[in-house]
Amino acid sequence: MRSPTDYIADRALGVDASGIRKVFDLAAKMKDPINFSIGLPDFDVPAPAKAAAIQAIQSGQNRYTQTQGIAPLRERLRKELSAEIGRDVGDVLITSGVSGGLFLAILSTINPGDEAIFLDPYFVMYKHLLTLAGGKAVPVDSYPDFRFHADRVEAAITPRTKLLILNTPSNPTGVVMTQQEVDAAVALAKKHDLLIISDEIYEPFLYSGLRTQHSGLPSAAKTYDRTIILRGFSKSHAMTGWRVAYAAGPEPIISQMTKLQQYTYVCAPSPLQHAALAALDVDMSAAVAAYESKRDIAFDTLSKKFEVVKPEGAFYIFPKAPAATTAIDFVEKAIANNVLIIPGNVFSERQTHFRISYATTDDKLRQGCQILNSLV
Ligand code: PMP
Repeated sequence: MRSPTDYIADRALGVDASGIRKVFDLAAKMKDPINFSIGLPDFDVPAPAKAAAIQAIQSGQNRYTQTQGIAPLRERLRKELSAEIGRDVGDVLITSGVSGGLFLAILSTINPGDEAIFLDPYFVMYKHLLTLAGGKAVPVDSYPDFRFHADRVEAAITPRTKLLILNTPSNPTGVVMTQQEVDAAVALAKKHDLLIISDEIYEPFLYSGLRTQHSGLPSAAKTYDRTIILRGFSKSHAMTGWRVAYAAGPEPIISQMTKLQQYTYVCAPSPLQHAALAALDVDMSAAVAAYESKRDIAFDTLSKKFEVVKPEGAFYIFPKAPAATTAIDFVEKAIANNVLIIPGNVFSERQTHFRISYATTDDKLRQGCQILNSLV
């Protein structure tokens, strides 16, 4: 007779969640921790978006939408993205979060044995979704500066390489790719015939004057039409629980993603698609300015004691643990002192660094960074 575990597919067993689970187990024992672990903004959903969600529910926008999402939202996003990248972006699909977009993009493109390259440190989901799809995740080490080193990336390309996944601004390092780095990535993609998936979920969070300097995020989509852009509302408008995002790119690929969405997510939540449309009219620049100042607090404090790259986007910072300890030991020490951080091996093949999400109050941020400094 089969025991319940005998029913589990190899596909599920092939995905390892132990790194994060260990942190959550430790966190469960903490009372009122200084929590630097979670990747979500500390501001609330803007009021006009909440009002639009309530209005949509009350006016009966509660049924399935078309698989691809509501037309006014898709059309608006297509128009704005096309204006930003200077050409028609292609088709737009409204997804259940960028997580949904990543799942559909990888499932639509990766055959068993196909390889996908991304920089290490990386957003955890890339590795696991590629494994689920039967593909091979190929992380390329970007330590110690976390920049895009074209030579290292090219050395990892094989005849089976199909995808290059870029994440700018990056989770967990906060690094933003320069125009030159994006150009180098596009040149490699052209030379080796790769599709680029550009995860730009942190696009609004650009600091150090980068937004005016480049008039927007340097994106592979501007010069390479075989790019799928993934963006969303989770981080930009603090709607992580609303599950609304979008994928834009070549029509033949977006149409396969749409087909797969039909049999998985069906559609993004209907009233919240209407709310996302309203959210596009909300000015979020004050929130971004507040995060730039949090970045400064975190970097100015931690750089006194840690080797750390100054982030230029998103809301993470990724310092190196003191030389005498492993990142895991340092994280345990931090947790014993009531500061919850995530060990770098959750995002990396290395275990030398740790991630802080500085999306918290300025007071807690100062307090937590000072505690970390005192542990060195
Ligand atoms: N990409 C990156 C780099 C992320 O950090 C996250 C969320 N932590 C996601 C995608 C997924 O976000 P969501 O599904 O909420 O849109």
